[in-house]
Amino acid sequence: MISRVMPQLLRSLFSRAFVNPFPAANMPSSMTEAMSNPELLNPYLPVGARFRGRLNYDRAKCIGCRLCVRVCPAHATDYQAEEKKIIIHNDRCCFCAQCTEVCPVKCLTMSKEFMISSYDRKANVVKDSGSVGAAPPAAKPAA
Ligand code: SF4
Ligand code: SF4
Repeated sequence: MISRVMPQLLRSLFSRAFVNPFPAANMPSSMTEAMSNPELLNPYLPVGARFRGRLNYDRAKCIGCRLCVRVCPAHATDYQAEEKKIIIHNDRCCFCAQCTEVCPVKCLTMSKEFMISSYDRKANVVKDSGSVGAAPPAAKPAA
């Protein structure tokens, strides 16, 4: 076991980092202060093309078929019967991307946004992100 791990350990000493350095080098004494002053944090490393961050939802494009609700293992999508649309609870989402695969009109996409922790659960409810054809939003800390 050790012999198989050692080459990988040695390689990692000389390759670039693939995780964001955290806690940040310039972390202030209070986490609240850190989150409200993102410039104090280390610059983000670019995430990979297949990174799965906070879900985007193009509400106008949604046809209300409920397939995303059926496949979601975390019960993170709620169907709004009156409007025939959904809302997404990102605080429940496990970022499996099954809903994005099953959606027949591709109105759900995984963004690259990963700094989404918040004291306010409602801040993580997505009702409409607009067109998902646009470039995904850059990662930024929650306000
Ligand atoms: S990514 Fe997975 S857990 Fe999150 S809403 Fe979609 S199906 Fe549910
Ligand atoms: S699978 Fe797509 S079209 Fe169907 S309800 Fe979910 S988001 Fe809307």
